Amino acid sequence: MAGLSATERRSFFAYAYRNTAASRTALTFGLPLLFLIGWTRDYAVSPALAMDSLPRRLLLFSLLVAMAVVMRARFRAFWREAALVAYACVFSAGIAMTTLAEPERMSLTHVAAVLTTIIILPFALHRLTAAAVVVVFSLPLFAMLAVLRADATLFAAYAGFLLVGVGIGLGHRRVWLDTALDVFRLRKRLLGRIHVDSLTGLFNREGWEARAARAFDQARGARRPVAVAYLDLDHFKRTNDTFGHAVGDQLLRATAATLQSHCSAGELVARVGGEEFVVLLPGADGDAAFAFAERVRHAVAALPGPFSSSVSCGVARHRPGETLEQLVARADAVMLQAKRRGRNMVLRAESAAPAFSEDATPGA
Ligand code: GH3
Ligand code: MG
Ligand code: MG
Repeated sequence: MAGLSATERRSFFAYAYRNTAASRTALTFGLPLLFLIGWTRDYAVSPALAMDSLPRRLLLFSLLVAMAVVMRARFRAFWREAALVAYACVFSAGIAMTTLAEPERMSLTHVAAVLTTIIILPFALHRLTAAAVVVVFSLPLFAMLAVLRADATLFAAYAGFLLVGVGIGLGHRRVWLDTALDVFRLRKRLLGRIHVDSLTGLFNREGWEARAARAFDQARGARRPVAVAYLDLDHFKRTNDTFGHAVGDQLLRATAATLQSHCSAGELVARVGGEEFVVLLPGADGDAAFAFAERVRHAVAALPGPFSSSVSCGVARHRPGETLEQLVARADAVMLQAKRRGRNMVLRAESAAPAFSEDATPGA
């Protein structure tokens, strides 16, 4: 996981957890089920012995299910990883206890142990978790061998089997983590490209909509005001026609940089069309949004270059019950009104004439 920042690591782990949801479900029900199936087989062979071990089996079964539920639930990564370690420990303790009750199983138990290690290890996302799984899985088994005074060859067989199991389990873990990491990185780069405008480096419409929807909901949830500013360069076609498209592009980039430099953290700006920009201003009321747009308008008018540039802008403050889409549409409508009134100006939806913004109240 070299090259990932702490935040990227967290989101990679969240992604990896989501990706293993199906196999975690299989683990949740699969291994505990083995305990019950094993008991049914024991019951067929010796009902008395099986009834003896029933409370122990049920306890282990419940513990395994509890751990597995924590592993699958929306707990923090730390607890899910800890649950995996506890799961491995309970399972191994279960195998050890069953063998203690029936020592003749001793020469078979290591096969079950090796298979279980191979199954559990790939679920360990952190290296430390993998190491802890190996330790807590091995300890009960070797303790059981010591209690039963197993001979050295049996110790060696257990160690050899576990070593191979750990090797295969870690190999699986490496392969799937590397694959998941590759996909995660590619997905991130792809999303970055899909959501970003290559000319200006601002979000494009898609990228803006994805993020603005979240910021809008958060502001609404916190009962904070939220406003939108919609800006369009004036007579941009004329700039292109007079100075060429390269200069037009230069003006677009300069406008984007100006907008970005006027935005503070949490304010989201995007280039949503050829020479059109939209800004989400969480926490801004009508006055703040108007002041923001005026600052940008003056800064754009002062941009150096062969062109003379200006923007027309409409700002709208969110009204109760309004969706983000409707809010943007209102800001856009007022921007068009600013065009009609002569360009190079900022108009507020709240004070614009109703002829162009049907829900605005004049003078409000
Ligand atoms: P108005 O003041 O009414 O907004 O007039 P305008 O000329 O700015 O608007 P219009 O919609 O007539 O022209 C927009 C122009 O923007 C037309 C198009 O060629 C140009 N354009 C769109 N995308 C790009 C781009 O990426 N680079 C450049 N250089 N020009 C672009
Ligand atoms: Mg324009
Ligand atoms: Mg336009």
